[in-house]
Amino acid sequence: MALFDVEVARDKSLHRFERAIRAGCDGRKAESAWWVDHVSITNIATIVEWCNGKGIKIQFEKCNNAVFDKDTMTISIASSIRPLRQVFYLLHECGHYMISNTAGKDDRFKMGYRLGEGFTSELSFSHKLACVEEEFEAWHRGWRLSQRLKMNLDRKQFDAVRRSCLKTYLVWVTKYGK
Ligand SMILES: [Zn+2]
Repeated sequence: MALFDVEVARDKSLHRFERAIRAGCDGRKAESAWWVDHVSITNIATIVEWCNGKGIKIQFEKCNNAVFDKDTMTISIASSIRPLRQVFYLLHECGHYMISNTAGKDDRFKMGYRLGEGFTSELSFSHKLACVEEEFEAWHRGWRLSQRLKMNLDRKQFDAVRRSCLKTYLVWVTKYGK
C-alpha cells in the first residue's frame, strides 16, 4: 500500500522502457510508451492534488482495478496498472465521489450503491440498474473533471476503457436480475 510518489512512478516507467529496449522491442514504440507514461504520471499528480483538496486519499496497492470508499474517503487503485489506465480509473472513481456528494438529493441513484452491500446480495434488478446508471454517470463526470483539470486526454482511449468496464456491468445487470 502506498501513496502516489511522482519520482517512484517515473523510475518505474524508465525501468519499463529499459527492459523493453533490452528485450529487443522497437525503440520508437518503447519511447512513445514511455512518453505516454510520462504525461499520465503528470495527470495522476493533478488528480491526486484535486483529491487532496476534497479530503480523498488515493492508495496504490495490490488489488483489482479501482474502488472509492465513501466511509474512509479513500480511492484504492491497482499499482500494477499502467499510468494511462490509472488516470482513467481515477477519474471514474472521482466521478463516484462527486455522485456520492449529491446522491442524497438525487432520486436517480437512491436504489443503487447507497443501499450498501447487504442489499447487493439480493441482486434485485432495480438496485442493479441504479448501480449501472451510476456507473455511466461516474464515467461522464470523470471525463468532465479531466476537462476542468485541462488534461487534454484522448476521448477515444478513454471511451475504450469506459466501454469495457460498462460491458462487465451490463452483463451483470442482465444476467441475474429479477
Ligand atoms: Zn464504477
